[in-house]
Amino acid sequence: MPPAPLPRDEERRLASLRSFEVLDTASEEVFDDIVALAARLTDSPIALVSLVDAERQWFKARYGVEASETPRDVAFCAHTILNPDKPLAVEDATKDPRFRENPLVTGAPDIRAYLGVPLVTQEGQALGSLCVIDREARHFDRETIGTVRTLARAVVTNLELRRALLQAREAALTDPLTGLPNRRATMAALVEALSGGEPVAVVTVDLDHFKEANDGEGHAAGDALLKEAARRLRDAVRPGDTVGRTGGDEFVVLLSGVEDRAAADGIVQRISAALHQPVPYGERVLRLGATLGVALAPADAQEAEMLVRVADEALVRAKREGRGSIGRASPEDAAKLLRAASILRSFDADACGEGGLSGATARLQPILALGQGKAPDGAVLAVEALARWGHPEVGEIPPGELFPVIGPERGALLGRAVRAQALAAFAGLQAQRQAGARLAEARLALNLSASEVARADIALELAAQVEGAGLSLRAVEIEITEEVLLERVSNRTLDGLAALRGRGARLVLDDFGTGNSGLAQLLRLPLDGLKLDRRFVQRLGADVRAEEIVKATVSLAHSLGLQLVAEGIETPRQAAMLRALGCDAVQGFLFARPMTPDALGNWLRGLPEEGTPELVPLGPRIARRVN
Ligand code: C2E
Ligand code: CA
Ligand code: CA
Repeated sequence: MPPAPLPRDEERRLASLRSFEVLDTASEEVFDDIVALAARLTDSPIALVSLVDAERQWFKARYGVEASETPRDVAFCAHTILNPDKPLAVEDATKDPRFRENPLVTGAPDIRAYLGVPLVTQEGQALGSLCVIDREARHFDRETIGTVRTLARAVVTNLELRRALLQAREAALTDPLTGLPNRRATMAALVEALSGGEPVAVVTVDLDHFKEANDGEGHAAGDALLKEAARRLRDAVRPGDTVGRTGGDEFVVLLSGVEDRAAADGIVQRISAALHQPVPYGERVLRLGATLGVALAPADAQEAEMLVRVADEALVRAKREGRGSIGRASPEDAAKLLRAASILRSFDADACGEGGLSGATARLQPILALGQGKAPDGAVLAVEALARWGHPEVGEIPPGELFPVIGPERGALLGRAVRAQALAAFAGLQAQRQAGARLAEARLALNLSASEVARADIALELAAQVEGAGLSLRAVEIEITEEVLLERVSNRTLDGLAALRGRGARLVLDDFGTGNSGLAQLLRLPLDGLKLDRRFVQRLGADVRAEEIVKATVSLAHSLGLQLVAEGIETPRQAAMLRALGCDAVQGFLFARPMTPDALGNWLRGLPEEGTPELVPLGPRIARRVN
């Protein structure tokens, strides 16, 4: 008994079958229901959805038999698919030369009658059949054949629907340019790897020179670079590893089973080397390079999102040291990110909670005259509002740590809350008899971050806040950082600030000396003062260059008609030197720490009536003594 011959276009047929990705998958209700229905409607003990694979027939659904597959040699369905247009009806297998010696006929399940309708796809390929089987010889009437035909169509429709869904899902998980898994798919693969408890090394990759190629040589060159990078990454790792494209010029590689740093290092160096070879592109050669970050699970972190962030943190650190290098995660990276995550969580909980951001308060720190100008020595020229935020879960977080962690939007939220409190407190203090007298000439200094300044409505908002507190713009000064003056900040933004100045606010450039704005940038905005960064103040006395810098800054400020404030004064010696160098005003722990409004009220009331304040060691007497 020869097996059924192969269909004419067997290779294409098998490829089509593969495209359904259905072989060896779990049972599915639709197909189970169809075979049950086929058996019942045709009054047959057995019904099958049989898919004819290269060497076997495999049952996607079966009713009345246990086996999930048989060799192809003995499959009735292997005959059915030879004629895609027609059902195959065998009324008595013992009388049919094709089947009478078939072991499925001579033994269990003792097939006598068989009716199979080919499962023909839209492209015309017969994948297998829907068949009903009887243990007794029987005739299949037209109605029975019609029923099985209808159900066979339902099987095909469902198979095609299933394939379409799979393809859509796959498209949603694939980067179309490189064919690599996209971010979602890569993260899913990482989650899956971690859930199995296997060690994984996560390598984040950031291409260098991509922007150059893309901007300089055109998008086609950029695409070529990305595709080549993807290919090299794939070639550099084992088939079981995952390479995904997670962003424009960012990739992530998951090295499964890699547990120790030495093993990871070897692979990562290989990856790095592969990505440092130039890419031929037509007549030209494109530069390629990459900075890498590596983190290990379980050593550095155990959760997918966190692992990638730890690797990214290492990458960012490596980039700072120089493009093209490799950053290795340290336990501190993970600790830092965990802390950042818990700060963010607490901040959001606070922002959404009753009263909104109840953990935010304002501290006020006085800025005092050095007696060089009109104001008498020790007079309070301003009080600076400094943000404080705390939460029971994470404690009080200093603003220097907090602002970078919470980012610009939350930072603006905090800034607004702090301004509101500071304005109210300042107005309250001014209204008090004794404290108010000390603040008669003082302004409230408000910090605006660069991203706040960039908002179109910031001038309006600030004016409304100030006036809402019953103050005039003449009662405030605005501290901005050099970032605001850099070229990428639009003139419109600066116009808003200038308008506030036009209405009486002073504008002061904070942290002067830390950025790299030149004179030209200083002139982009009409300013009233400069605040020399405390770095320089704190090096006074220890580093002659600091003295030179202060001297030069004083002279620059004065030549531009600006007042120079020094901040961070902690020792009488620093104060004396600043006075000698011609600084106009000072702020620092030596005179007063940032205080609650109540504490500031007490501090103000403790100031002497007139002349050189004793609480403020500024007088020539003290300056002389420390000299
Ligand atoms: P900044 O604007 O330069 O503020 C001065 C910082 O120096 C304050 O730190 C202040 O407490 C500190 N300081 C003052 N005197 C001394 C001293 O003698 N020695 C030392 N070591 N430090 C002194 P703080 O309050 O931690 O604020 C840090 C930074 O956070 C601020 O630097 C500012 O850039 C930012 N910031 C604080 N509050 C706000 C706010 O409401 N809005 C915005 N946008 N930024 C804020
Ligand atoms: Ca400031
Ligand atoms: Ca400052």
